[in-house]
Amino acid sequence: MKLYLYNSLTRSKVEFKAVQPGQVGLYTCGPTVYNFAHIGNLRTYIFEDILRRVLLYNGYRVKHVMNITDVGHLTGDRDMGEDKMERRALREGRTAWEIAEFYTQAFKNDIKNLNILPPDIWVKATDTIDEQIALIKTLEEKGYTYRTSDGVYFDTSKFKDYTKLSHQKLESLQEGARVEKNPEKRNPTDFALWKFSPHGVQRQMEWDSSWGVGFPGWHLECSVMSMKFLGDQLDIHCGGTDHIDVHHTNEIAQSEAATGRPFFKWWMHGAFLIIAGGKKMAKSEGNFLTLDHAFVKAGIHPLVYRFAAFQTHYRKPMEYSDESVQAARNGLSHLQNQIRQIAGAGADPQNNISAEHKNKFLEAVNDDLNMPRAMAAVQELLKSNINDGQKYTTILDFDRVLGLDLDNLAQHEDLPSEVQKLVDARQKARDAREWEASDRLRDEIQALGYMVQDTPEGMKVIKT
Ligand code: AMP
Ligand code: ZN
Repeated sequence: MKLYLYNSLTRSKVEFKAVQPGQVGLYTCGPTVYNFAHIGNLRTYIFEDILRRVLLYNGYRVKHVMNITDVGHLTGDRDMGEDKMERRALREGRTAWEIAEFYTQAFKNDIKNLNILPPDIWVKATDTIDEQIALIKTLEEKGYTYRTSDGVYFDTSKFKDYTKLSHQKLESLQEGARVEKNPEKRNPTDFALWKFSPHGVQRQMEWDSSWGVGFPGWHLECSVMSMKFLGDQLDIHCGGTDHIDVHHTNEIAQSEAATGRPFFKWWMHGAFLIIAGGKKMAKSEGNFLTLDHAFVKAGIHPLVYRFAAFQTHYRKPMEYSDESVQAARNGLSHLQNQIRQIAGAGADPQNNISAEHKNKFLEAVNDDLNMPRAMAAVQELLKSNINDGQKYTTILDFDRVLGLDLDNLAQHEDLPSEVQKLVDARQKARDAREWEASDRLRDEIQALGYMVQDTPEGMKVIKT
């Protein structure tokens, strides 16, 4: 069956064709690890995970690369302001490297909790500094760069088609870029390739280069890593819609200027998670929730959030509220109950997936990842009159895309509140190294029919 995807570059939904038959190179812009990811960020990673799973479901081999931004992302998107990492390090009294390590682990934990498949290749910006310097040199040799007192910049006026992804008039992009003034820039949309460490300041993360000691501009890492790890498989590049005007536009400009060849063929963008009143969830707005706080610690299974994300198409803003979480909680638990009722029949011994239902499901996900429609196809399957064994086999097949752990329901029940309270108290006791209290609480939890396991990722609670 044909797979249709919306390409932001052409602003159209067209049949997907891989550059090399049967395999897809996928690049997804990763987190800046100066803070926890918020559930808005995680919505984008869920959308990208669905994309990856749908490609796999369609029989493609996928090579997936994700960067970890651990240097160079400034508080202003236009190369102004402070480095987010260094600022956080000062505030927390830890080194920038420690900050990066801590929030990288937190991010990996979040995506694990959401059943997001980890990329095949993780790359840290700080591990590709040499390649980033080499790319700037190429651009310099080709005449695309100029120096100012604070860095080396890309001259966007030299790159034809600078607005091909944003589809904006150059003047309106420039207008937006003028907000943060840098009088030395030749054009407001020009962006830093290399920034010098400020005079008299020794940054924690800085490197020598032929232009002076400093650090790479934020957009550079994604160009370098895409080309380094995906080579001739530059199929799909993703991020949130906020990346269209600046980050991805600049990635395209510097990559195509350097190689003289088209960069990625497909650009896909996830819409925002918004909260009451239509405001986007953002760290800069101070209105953000983390998965840990809003779900794990609140005793709501994190897969509820994954399920919630399926209710809105990825190109539409998703509204987040207590009511939407409650609805998703009910929806997931209803689905789990439906599956429990048929699971007894076991997977069909002949592995007999219902072709009719699979077709409907595939049609939905292949229509630009239409998850609301796919969820309707799930209900149609469960309410159909095919036998339970076949239903169960078919739903487990769908779960390759859904990623809701439908074959493993026992682990994913919400804990009753009395158990959750004891679990929280035990966590506190352990944090305070009060082992006796911790053991006593474990016994109390056990008496309520739950087993506690202490694993490197934290405490696991399993129904016995
Ligand atoms: P950052 O760590 O800020 O680079 O963002 C990580 C990813 O989350 C990027 O792909 C952003 O485009 C995306 N993003 C940021 N805010 C939101 C939001 N409110 N809803 C959905 N995605 C977002
Ligand atoms: Zn990127």
